[in-house]
Amino acid sequence: MPYNQPHPLEVRVLTRRFGLPNSQSIDTYIANEGYQALEKATAMSQEEIINEVKASGLRGRGGAGFPTGMKWGFVPRNSPKPKYIVVNADESEPGTCKDRLLIEYDPHQLIEGIMIAGLAVGAQQGYIYIRGEFRYLIGVMDKAIDEAYARGVLGDNVLGKGIKFHLATHSGAGAYECGEESALLESFEGKRGNPRIRPPFPAVAGAYQCPTVLNNVETFCAVPTIILRGAKYFADLGSPKNGGTRLFCLSGHVNRPGVYELPMGFNLLRLINEVGGGVRNGKKLKAVIPGGSSCPVLKADECDLAMDFDTVAAAKSMLGSGGVVVMDEDTDIVKAALRIMRFYAHESCGWCIPCREGTTWLKKLLQRMDDGMGQRSDIVLIGDLSKNMLGRTFCPLGDAAAMPTIAFVEKFREEFEAKVAA
Ligand code: SF4
Repeated sequence: MPYNQPHPLEVRVLTRRFGLPNSQSIDTYIANEGYQALEKATAMSQEEIINEVKASGLRGRGGAGFPTGMKWGFVPRNSPKPKYIVVNADESEPGTCKDRLLIEYDPHQLIEGIMIAGLAVGAQQGYIYIRGEFRYLIGVMDKAIDEAYARGVLGDNVLGKGIKFHLATHSGAGAYECGEESALLESFEGKRGNPRIRPPFPAVAGAYQCPTVLNNVETFCAVPTIILRGAKYFADLGSPKNGGTRLFCLSGHVNRPGVYELPMGFNLLRLINEVGGGVRNGKKLKAVIPGGSSCPVLKADECDLAMDFDTVAAAKSMLGSGGVVVMDEDTDIVKAALRIMRFYAHESCGWCIPCREGTTWLKKLLQRMDDGMGQRSDIVLIGDLSKNMLGRTFCPLGDAAAMPTIAFVEKFREEFEAKVAA
């Protein structure tokens, strides 16, 4: 769907400026409510900003769904160290492709959200860590930052109010692992992107061991709307405890794949059938990965559910990063599991054994099965190996590889058995 032609069911909030002529420019942004929230926030106390974000029900859009206002509230106010805002723009979860659009079409919305977070915790410096493969977006973001400096939005005298805030971009080098917040911080500091042992969490010891707010792009982009239109407006858009809208990235076997902004809690079947135009070529729905490749698959009969963090968790999967991958009746589930595991085996940073060895062995077992040389005992082995990875790794990548595999085997065991028997 072209961005200047929203689907009738969409609720355009974060994407409301998409499709406007020259939507990247500061002039377009200012002419369309831009930087009004920042102006308003400069008259609010830190407590007031944080309470507003808490009341909005905004939960982190990177995957974990942690309440954003609460996260900001963990930053110690009385710390003598400088405080930082770091943006996770390392969008690399397979099936997810919306943060890139938020940067590409409306970079000033992101800048404004970062600056409001800075006011909330007393930070004067922000960094946007952008995925290495998104080099073209660094140019978009740098141009917007330059415009904001030239207009007195960024700098030593923000909006003429004597407040200081500076912002810069930083390029990653294309590692999935660096989307994990502590690995991102290591990489940001110029080190190898391995995760840190926590606690301490970034709110207390983040960038350069200083208190740091770290959220993803979509999360920061929601903040100007919350401050400008109020927490209640934002909360009422979504479902209980899941405020706002969500950018769902619909891909796979649907007629109209794309990124759609819909209220939190929108029904998954309606997303596929009404927004996405149904399953391609009139086929039947077989399965859906609801939140990116690390989320356990749902069978077709499990898909009549509200897409919010709690409902999808109750269905034993995750809303994750909003990457909805649709599979039709012809999908080979063993091949799908193998494709995902090849990705995780490649992206494992090798820091801990269960992930490094586990992903490699799972890939080999799935490959052997797909090649028609699997044994019946491999099915049990795949399940056992995956379960032994769960909770035994430094970062969530180990679980991210294990969880979908367990779900594939448990829910589609007959397909694995058929490959063995074949
Ligand atoms: Fe690295 Fe995997 Fe361990 Fe994460 S779980 S630290 S990616 S080896």
